[in-house]
Amino acid sequence: MLTFTYEQLPIRVVFGAGSFDRLAEEVGRLGLKRAMILSTPGQRRLADEAAKRLGVATAGIHAEAVMHVPVETARAARETARRLAADCVVAIGGGSTIGLGKAVALDTGLPVLAVPTTYSGSEMTSIYGVTDGGVKRTGRDRKVLPRVVLYDPALTVGLPAKISGPSGMNALAHCVEALYAQDANPITSLMAADGIRALARALPVVVKEPLDLEGRSDALYGAWLAGSALGMVAMGLHHKLCHTLGGSFSLPHAEVHTVILPHAVAYNRAAAPAAMRIVAEALGAEDAARGLYDLAKALGAPLSLGQIGMPADGLDRAAKLATENPYYNPRPVEYAGIRQLLEDAWHGRRPA
Ligand code: NAD
Repeated sequence: MLTFTYEQLPIRVVFGAGSFDRLAEEVGRLGLKRAMILSTPGQRRLADEAAKRLGVATAGIHAEAVMHVPVETARAARETARRLAADCVVAIGGGSTIGLGKAVALDTGLPVLAVPTTYSGSEMTSIYGVTDGGVKRTGRDRKVLPRVVLYDPALTVGLPAKISGPSGMNALAHCVEALYAQDANPITSLMAADGIRALARALPVVVKEPLDLEGRSDALYGAWLAGSALGMVAMGLHHKLCHTLGGSFSLPHAEVHTVILPHAVAYNRAAAPAAMRIVAEALGAEDAARGLYDLAKALGAPLSLGQIGMPADGLDRAAKLATENPYYNPRPVEYAGIRQLLEDAWHGRRPA
């Protein structure tokens, strides 16, 4: 019999090519007048475009976002917000820039508007993360949840294939783990299944034809569903492993997700048969784990931990770290199994 708790997060989503042009209107709708615009140094041009659209509602640009939100970067952004007397934050970019916006919101309470340009999904969650002395502290707080998200696929056509593929696999990982989450509910499961379908059909198009707006729109739609699912239910083994590997071995975020996903799914396969059937069906594959591996391969994305900088002699420590603290996962998380999973992922073996 069906039993669940469902809590809708209060986010306004504006989706479609050209939605970036509605930025000033959306800031105005919230009664805000002085936006601090955030981007990475590499996406400064996009921040300038946002300032043009905002006109007098621009308080200033802070193009200093970097990967994993170092505590010093968060502090500097907060100081800029104060100096500019900003009354809101507009974060344009991937998970790193949106993460910086959340870090500012966490301390100042300033509302965030997000304009995502990757498929990370951070814009749909109240999860924040700040890195201090090499350790990433994460948590959930409603204060950091963006008020408005503008999804404009036209902003993603410049995302190179080598970032698009792994970023899309990162989104797929949210969908997959949402399907076997302990607190899964019928709505997140619907979103997750359609997210997988959209990403599986869009990502091969996106890496082959980066300028195909239809494909970009489909991929961004899938990323929205994935981020929504991530925001509403708790993740399992896959996300915990990626967090450990990313944090302790400085591996690139989306690439770690890409490599680990087929192996985490193979580990959980027998313990979550209903979820696996949905994943396989949505991928159009016979088996969920092999379907994910084959998709990553078709995207030209990395397939092995060795390839993305994981030292072979770090696998024991990684397995130990990943099994230290208990958390929910459909199959109990035990050292020998995780060590074997990491070994397979290090070599980039196709799941049996
Ligand atoms: P990212 O934000 O670091 O972006 C990767 C690179 O791509 C950057 O150099 C960026 O400037 C560039 N880029 C972004 N969009 C572009 C575009 N359209 N065209 C050209 N270049 C572009 O990478 P990411 O994978 O989006 O985010 C990773 C970070 O997000 C990690 O720190 C991760 O922990 C975090 N994250 C958080 C959540 C959450 O819910 N809090 C969810 C997912 C990821």
